[in-house]
Amino acid sequence: MNLIKNFPMKQITSLGVGGPADYFCKPKNIPEIQQGLQYAQEHELPITIIGYGTNLLVTDKGIRGLVIQIADNFAQAGVEGTLITATSGCLFNSISRLAACHSLTGLEFAIGIPGSLGGAIYMNAGAYDGEIGPLIENITWATAEDVGIWDKNSYIYSYRYSRAQEEPVVIVKAHIRLEKGDQKTIYAKMKEFQTKRHARQPFDQPSAGSTFKRPEGYYVGPMIEKLNLKGYTIGGAQVSKKHAGFIINTGNATAQDILDLIAFIQKTVKEAHGIHLEPEIKIIGER
Ligand SMILES: Cc1cc2nc3c(=O)[nH]c(=O)nc-3n(C[C@H](O)[C@H](O)[C@H](O)COP(=O)(O)OP(=O)(O)OC[C@H]3O[C@@H](n4cnc5c(N)ncnc54)[C@H](O)[C@@H]3O)c2cc1C
Repeated sequence: MNLIKNFPMKQITSLGVGGPADYFCKPKNIPEIQQGLQYAQEHELPITIIGYGTNLLVTDKGIRGLVIQIADNFAQAGVEGTLITATSGCLFNSISRLAACHSLTGLEFAIGIPGSLGGAIYMNAGAYDGEIGPLIENITWATAEDVGIWDKNSYIYSYRYSRAQEEPVVIVKAHIRLEKGDQKTIYAKMKEFQTKRHARQPFDQPSAGSTFKRPEGYYVGPMIEKLNLKGYTIGGAQVSKKHAGFIINTGNATAQDILDLIAFIQKTVKEAHGIHLEPEIKIIGER
């Protein structure tokens, strides 16, 4: 296991902000993941697990302890019948494409969602007509000492929430159950979703996706837009002019600029609608 000191987190997160991680490693297999977890335990280092960092805001002071990245060097996937088996470092996008390649329907919604399968499972990622939760057959997880399985009845999930958010486990693998479908229809649906995404979302600018969770009965983007906050800027952080539900880094944002903008939007929405907007992005690191 190769431990790197003072790793610059801004280089591997989609928002491109934040300070360094004290220690960083990128395991290739389950034993290496467990080695990392054991090392952190022995040295009393706090542990942070990340995927591709597409849903993260790392604070300017950075992350104390060890960051374990589960990404491209832990990415294998296969298909058997209607079952996909994939390790958690696979790109969620690639799993969607793999499914389409085998005429399997159910994962069309995942096309265009950046990040890893592990991150998607942790977040119960979803879009349009789908989310990963209902497709899970089982999940393999690891801790420093154990490797275990949650079957589909014990993987609890709801909107942008999963059991993994409550338990200190590393998601290492999943079986995803799909259905046989018509390949042309699958590709057509994926194309439709991609076109919609590119038309509505600021794909060419650094962001971490939707900033806030959707409160029941409301759409966050239009709500923020109606309060004239599109383009509102603090330092280098800006409410996207394309989609008000996204905050973008215009180039030189600090994490604090983004935190200040989040707080400002929350305050404005609270005053106007009495609603508390809860961040969907995960804010990590020393405050
Ligand atoms: C342009 C853009 C569009 C987006 N669109 C969508 C969308 O339509 N729908 C949607 O749901 N999300 C969307 N997102 C958000 C993001 O892509 C998803 O949340 C994604 O699933 C995060 O995966 P990741 O690997 O980047 O996870 P990270 O951002 O690295 O981590 C996210 C959380 O998952 C945890 N985690 C990651 N991997 C593991 C693991 N192996 N084991 C345990 N915990 C783990 C981390 O601790 C962290 O709390 C978008 C983001 C961007 C930038």
